Amino acid sequence: MSGGGTCFKLRLVAEPAQPELPSSEPVRAVFLDRDGTINVDKHYLSDPAQLELIPGTGAALKRLQDAGFLLVIVTNQSGIGRGYYTEEAMHAVNRRLIMELAPLGVRLRKIYYSPEAPEQPSVGRKPSPAFLFAARDELGVDLARSYMVGDKVIDLECGWNAGVCRSLLVRTGYGRETEQKHADKLGRAVVVDDLPTAAEWILHQPA
Ligand SMILES: [Mg+2]
Repeated sequence: MSGGGTCFKLRLVAEPAQPELPSSEPVRAVFLDRDGTINVDKHYLSDPAQLELIPGTGAALKRLQDAGFLLVIVTNQSGIGRGYYTEEAMHAVNRRLIMELAPLGVRLRKIYYSPEAPEQPSVGRKPSPAFLFAARDELGVDLARSYMVGDKVIDLECGWNAGVCRSLLVRTGYGRETEQKHADKLGRAVVVDDLPTAAEWILHQPA
């Protein structure tokens, strides 16, 4: 570590490993929380066999992709920092997710994750916008024309901190509880039932 610089490097992971040059044109992205938004929240999911997609998710992601949105997951995986499961176990779950979406033609451009527990220093842990800025720089994403979708206030804040067009709260996962308990923190968030409804809403916005 260089003296005086940051001691904690931004941790990035790209899955699947299908490198592509960043587009010269700014592209739009939908940033997605994983647990409770794409798949059923199983409380520190670490077993690929337990991965269960929320109904309609694959088709919704395909619609967004077909409309030109990059699909980027941004996930807090504090279970690693807490010692509940290993980083490799998380990768296995992610590989399973990629595998289940592949037959539908869905391609996740990047999965950014924060392995730190809440009390550990972290650059990327939501609500930090660091990974969205990374996507802007690495993939050429135009954040102001992009969206963030998740089931917790930290997801919404992550999007706002990065300056996305809108953050959307889904009522799956912790979303319904979030809507009831944190109504004062929802701000300009768009509240929808689930990811398919979120996709529908996004696709009706002007490009
Ligand atoms: Mg979640």
